[in-house]
Amino acid sequence: MNPFDELKHLSDVWARLTDVRPIRGRGIYLYDQQGNQYTDFTSGLGVVNTGHCHPKIVEAVQKQAQELLFAQMNCVVSPMIIELSKKLNALTPECITKFFFSNSGAEATEAAIKLAKVATKRSNVIVFQGSFHGRTHLAMSMTTSKTIYRQGFQPLLPGIFVAPYPYPYLYGWKEGTTVEFCKEQLQHLLNGQTSPSETAAIIIEPVLGEGGYIPTPTAFLEYLREVCNAHGILLIIDEVQTGFGRTGKFFCYEHSAIEPDILVMAKGFGSGLPISAIGSSQEIMSKWSAGSHGGTYGGGSLIPIVASIATIDVIENEKLVDNANIQGYLLNDALIELKSKHPSIVDLRAKGLMVGIEFKNAQIAKKVQSYCIENHLLLLTCGTYSNTIRWIPPLVVSSDELLEALTIFENGLIKSTKQLH
Ligand code: PLP
Repeated sequence: MNPFDELKHLSDVWARLTDVRPIRGRGIYLYDQQGNQYTDFTSGLGVVNTGHCHPKIVEAVQKQAQELLFAQMNCVVSPMIIELSKKLNALTPECITKFFFSNSGAEATEAAIKLAKVATKRSNVIVFQGSFHGRTHLAMSMTTSKTIYRQGFQPLLPGIFVAPYPYPYLYGWKEGTTVEFCKEQLQHLLNGQTSPSETAAIIIEPVLGEGGYIPTPTAFLEYLREVCNAHGILLIIDEVQTGFGRTGKFFCYEHSAIEPDILVMAKGFGSGLPISAIGSSQEIMSKWSAGSHGGTYGGGSLIPIVASIATIDVIENEKLVDNANIQGYLLNDALIELKSKHPSIVDLRAKGLMVGIEFKNAQIAKKVQSYCIENHLLLLTCGTYSNTIRWIPPLVVSSDELLEALTIFENGLIKSTKQLH
């Protein structure tokens, strides 16, 4: 039977990387009904930082499932959501004291923008070239990583302005020159298209995710903080993909001296259970009136909440942030060596276990990726031209597991290079 026949009642809107049909997951591995093992270095699009089915998270979910599944936030307040808000408060800077909960990353970026608009009484938002903030209507309007996310859905929402992102390889410049250029272009935008007095927020991913795994240079983040401070613009840091230990800090903005006005969290937050949040100050959060924003499930669906509490505990108790650093260095060093041997690799970018390896073109990236998948190593691509392979293994990965995956990757690289010559 054609493996895709059985999918005929599923919408065609999902792009599909593989025809794997997993029924079980443990750590970095997925297993199908026949017992085949797949190394999941997609982490389910950056979700299972704690690995698949971490026993502590499964235990918390099972325990909660027997007691209470739902406690709607507008009607009652569960002790579990109070506990989670306290945990987030301890993990975030002093200025961030209040949290709003929802289900997905897009819902959270939408909430962040609505909050920024109501708090500043301004209408406009600045995003960066290559950004990905989700696929609901407002989030899609702020997403510029690929036209596929916009094509056919126009017109998009007004009031969203796109500034160049400091992506040195794209411009062919050194980081310092690229940062200076992007600073000037941001000023140009604020002078020519959206005046500071109309600009509610600047939203940025501290590592551009779907746009190609490109860390934001610290100097640029610090500049954004200065611009926002000078003009009363709110700085929104979208940590949907970079949060929860991924980059070798609990949150990626901690690599710099800046603090966000609004912090956006999802993906790794729930280890696979749908939960997202935004965090901000009492002053900003007090600006939206009760009932003006919300949703039926956010903060009330208790299985994701206990999964998030357990996720934070696991990340802390098992020192997964440290492991992201240790394994990230190992991976980066190995890839530097591969880059020196393979001219088809044109750029390498790494922050913790968020590593992007850019190829000359999408054809070679696709070939290497296909080889890896055939050999049961699941890797994703990213970037506007789909020519970057991203490494986002679960943060529980060991050095041996990484080395095994690197061997498959190198073999794929050798084979694909030969085939294309
Ligand atoms: N923001 C960033 C940085 C993301 O990477 C994503 C998803 O990939 C989103 C927002 C949207 O999250 P979701 O797919 O949960 O709506």
